Amino acid sequence: QRARMRTPISPAHMDWASHYPAFVDPDPSKINLGGTRKLIKDVEVVDIGCGFGGLLVGLAPLLPDTLMVGMEIRVSVLDYVRSRVSALRLKQQVLKKTAAEKSTNQTPSETPTVPEDEDDEVGSTTTIVPGNYENITGIRANTMKFLPNFFGHHQLSKIFVCFPDPHFKARKHKARIVSESLNAEYAYVLKPGGLMYTITDVEEYHHWGDEPTEGIRDLWELLSEEELDADPCVQVMKFETEESKKVTRNNGNKYVAVFRRKADPEWP
Ligand code: SAM
Repeated sequence: QRARMRTPISPAHMDWASHYPAFVDPDPSKINLGGTRKLIKDVEVVDIGCGFGGLLVGLAPLLPDTLMVGMEIRVSVLDYVRSRVSALRLKQQVLKKTAAEKSTNQTPSETPTVPEDEDDEVGSTTTIVPGNYENITGIRANTMKFLPNFFGHHQLSKIFVCFPDPHFKARKHKARIVSESLNAEYAYVLKPGGLMYTITDVEEYHHWGDEPTEGIRDLWELLSEEELDADPCVQVMKFETEESKKVTRNNGNKYVAVFRRKADPEWP
């Protein structure tokens, strides 16, 4: 079934249960406003414009207990992400079953077939990884219009914006995934202390944050080089998204900036 653009009227109406079956609350009476089962935890990490899902696949074993979602506007690309995640989950199930059978010295009832995956270079698919990729999913959405329909105030701990499509013409500035008006939305859904990760190969984009307006300065603080070096998510962002691999192949530059969302100012 192809991924349709289904926008919930509020975060409490979103059906997350079908995306993260391993995290559905065992109590069947716990139902959200949309009539679907609740999860035992909230989604906390979002990849905006996730493309083919390389970031999610790279982060999944690093943060196995954190629910992460990629949002993508192109239907065929999102279909690919969904199939990729399903194949990875299935592969993990087969590997676990085989390992369990081996450890109990049973003869496997049938030779397990491990689904082929395009992603073997990530090195995570032939071993059992923490989280079994049950913690990642993709949804089709226009993040520039509907982010607050999916996530509540202060819900997220990380937002990734990796290699957003550049739009240089002034009339298109409003259409940029990283823009001043969108910053208010990102700050709304991020927890205080939460991080917004950005990476681009377009230098002009990177310098966008150099002269922040007052509103932006109030909301965000830039992480230091030492903090970036200590964060394994930065390495995934630099080397495991499909676009980052393309930039590596072309010997391009990668500009990383990570912003910490400050605490809300005190009301006078
Ligand atoms: N982040 C991925 C990576 O690093 O490989 C993909 C980068 S690609 C250059 C930008 C992606 O953002 C495209 O897949 C595009 O379809 C998606 N995109 C653009 N505008 C979007 C929007 N408003 N909402 C969701 N996705 C969007």
